[in-house]
Amino acid sequence: MKKIAVMTSGGDAPGMNAAIRAVVRSGIHFGFEVYGIQYGYKGLCEGDIIRLERHDVSRIINRGGTVLGSARYDDFKKKSVRKIAVKNLLDLGIDSLVVIGGDGTYRGAQALSEMGIKCIGLPGTIDNDISSTDYTIGFYTALQTIVESIDRLKDTSLSHQRCSVVEVMGRNCGDLALYAGIAGGSEFIVTPETGFDKSLFLQQLKTSHETGRRHAIVVVTENIVKPHELAQEIEEVSGYETIATVLGHVQRGGNPVAFDRVLATEMGEYAVELINKGISSKAVGLKGMDLVDYDIVFALNKKREIPNKRYGLVGRLK
Ligand code: ADP
Repeated sequence: MKKIAVMTSGGDAPGMNAAIRAVVRSGIHFGFEVYGIQYGYKGLCEGDIIRLERHDVSRIINRGGTVLGSARYDDFKKKSVRKIAVKNLLDLGIDSLVVIGGDGTYRGAQALSEMGIKCIGLPGTIDNDISSTDYTIGFYTALQTIVESIDRLKDTSLSHQRCSVVEVMGRNCGDLALYAGIAGGSEFIVTPETGFDKSLFLQQLKTSHETGRRHAIVVVTENIVKPHELAQEIEEVSGYETIATVLGHVQRGGNPVAFDRVLATEMGEYAVELINKGISSKAVGLKGMDLVDYDIVFALNKKREIPNKRYGLVGRLK
């Protein structure tokens, strides 16, 4: 019987469990024996590999995090370490692997593919920073968490005529801030794509205050500004009393929203279908309404398209 394995790696994202469940159950549907690798590439090298049956993935579709655990494991960049991983898989008769994670995880999968393991990558990250898919598994759940927080901040900001600076995750990708800015009706967003012209930004807030706008919400992607320092500067220049909120790791957790569950489930099945057809070294993505697959190398090198019209929307509606 052909054996396949599934694992989650890198930063966890809500919806990873739905993807694991889909791989396990589609695998069984296609007549494969399915294994789960615990704690990403680290577990793979340590032989942390378990058999997964249908019931092992019961009641996880609605749960955040990943039941297989995840890890960051830099040693996997060394070929000598990856040789151990390959041996652990082949000793069990496993030659195909579905990896769920971000671009680091894809790099690991590509390196494993070059050593003879048939890998399929599924995009699992809240950041939506994988250019080979319109949306990643976990993005919409994190977005929902952010938007609910902005709604709450808006209530209190409005009551006290304040400005709120909200820092969200995203690494080098502004999608969480952009979409949260739109869905939360925020006045300003600062992302890697917008850049940050501080004096112009402060001037705009000053004008906003002077023209009688009672509050303002500013959504910023992490690692661009120091939110508390920026809040102080806004207060000094604009006249708004200003509070900074760093949402932090709450953005990673929580039950996946329906969109992420559906995306993860469809992608999980798609990955197993590729393996069943003997296709490997692919990254699965969503393009419009359809699932697609690209060579992992192509997926890693593909340039992200910046949604310029969407970026303009926040400014046009403020
Ligand atoms: P993400 O997958 O969320 O982007 P990381 O960047 O931390 O998260 O990558 C996850 C893991 O993938 C790393 O901890 C490492 O084990 C593996 N990895 C990342 N880059 C490479 C690489 N160039 N070669 C081999 N393995 C890699």
